[in-house]
Amino acid sequence: MAKRKTKKQGKNWKKFWKLGTEEFNTQFLGMSKDGELTATEGHHIYNLHDLARKYGTPLQVIFPFVLEDRLKDLIGYFQAYIKIYGYKGKFFYHYPMKVNQNREFVLPLISEGANLEVTSANELWLVKKLWEGERFNNKIRVLCNGPKTDQYLDLIEELHGKGMNIVPIIEGPEEIERISKYKGDKGARVDLSIKSDTRWDKKFDRFGLSEKDILDLPKMKNLKILHYHLGSQIKTQKSILDAIKRGFGIYIELQKKYPSLDTLDIGGGFGLSHEKKKFYTAKVVSSKIIKLLKNLSDKAQVKHPNLAIEWGWYIVDPAQITIYKVISKKYIEKANARAWYIIDGSFMNDLKDTWAVHRKLYVIPANNMMSPLKRVWLAGSSCDSDDKYTAGGDYMLLPKIDGEDQYLAILDTGAYQDSLASHHCLLSLPAKIVAKDGEIKIARKHESAESVGKLFGWNGDHK
Ligand SMILES: *Cc1c(COP(=O)(O)O)cnc(C)c1O
Repeated sequence: MAKRKTKKQGKNWKKFWKLGTEEFNTQFLGMSKDGELTATEGHHIYNLHDLARKYGTPLQVIFPFVLEDRLKDLIGYFQAYIKIYGYKGKFFYHYPMKVNQNREFVLPLISEGANLEVTSANELWLVKKLWEGERFNNKIRVLCNGPKTDQYLDLIEELHGKGMNIVPIIEGPEEIERISKYKGDKGARVDLSIKSDTRWDKKFDRFGLSEKDILDLPKMKNLKILHYHLGSQIKTQKSILDAIKRGFGIYIELQKKYPSLDTLDIGGGFGLSHEKKKFYTAKVVSSKIIKLLKNLSDKAQVKHPNLAIEWGWYIVDPAQITIYKVISKKYIEKANARAWYIIDGSFMNDLKDTWAVHRKLYVIPANNMMSPLKRVWLAGSSCDSDDKYTAGGDYMLLPKIDGEDQYLAILDTGAYQDSLASHHCLLSLPAKIVAKDGEIKIARKHESAESVGKLFGWNGDHK
């Protein structure tokens, strides 16, 4: 939400709020004739202002069809380019569960053909429960990243013994001994020594074996996957493609020692942007990836590797919107913004990923979308002075409030926010509803004082 030209009568408000635009991932969003935010699923229309009033704020709205459409499109791109270029390897999408572990996210993705990637024993335990409940078929492959505690490795072995297609990825020297004895397929993660423009500081990456150590791994059977992960929100397609070149170089070296190696897993990190006009797209990058891998393999005269990707953020972020109500305002003198709008929730608690890593928010009004605008900053309801969002000291343009109710929608809150959420000042978490097939299901009610108290041991009589 950078600076915008100021209002004009008769302007195209839908365009102004960047609705209905593929490049901003708002294809499904629009505006009612009364200036209220809407979401369209097939022939169904949801009015987000009505939902906010009916279910109360703070409110998270999940749109499973957005997840499904995004994954379907992504798999479609890769499959199409595999055909077009005559690529011989297979394509696998693995959903990195840590991005959002809620069942409303995981189940639709599995049904659209996602494999899984987990980062802890607890995530794997959820997968075990799903599998025991026969919620997915045996073709799904589960990749296991993250530090391998004994409990985690025991669970991996147990599930392998029961027939799950489960692949531990060696991430550190202390994991080599036990995983190299593991009977099933396995992988190894390399920390590529290249600079890439992500949010991570590569110099201090603590994940994965160094390029040298990975080539010095001991002999083992069934080493199938070479994996790397650059970090989140990669800024340019060049970084994605450079990493593939580097990773592929290691892949062919490693394959000389381990002929079983047949898959390159390029991890996550695909970015999304609602600011820059010319951000790279999945359609273009998928084509470049397949073409590049084909050319590199043909040149090196090796079989085209299978390709696995773990793009989490890209798939899930647009599938959830968080709505707040402005509960008060306060004038500011001499700043980029003219007023604070205080919302009935907390950036620090509910949008932690934003708050902690200075992620940009995509804030638009959920009603009064055609009203005159004001330069504002947003503040949360906790008593912490850092509980705010100022667009990096700049400002946001939002409707001027004159006594009427104002609701704000924060788009793209599907990734990384929920599992980081907290209860500072014992504020309640947002309620959560699922919009699907024209109907609304409540996934989490507004937390009562009693249920929040229980989290802190206040059970019963409080003596
Ligand atoms: C976090 C993570 C991902 C997902 O990253 P995104 O930025 O959400 O795409 C994928 N793979 C691994 C190993 C991760 O740690």
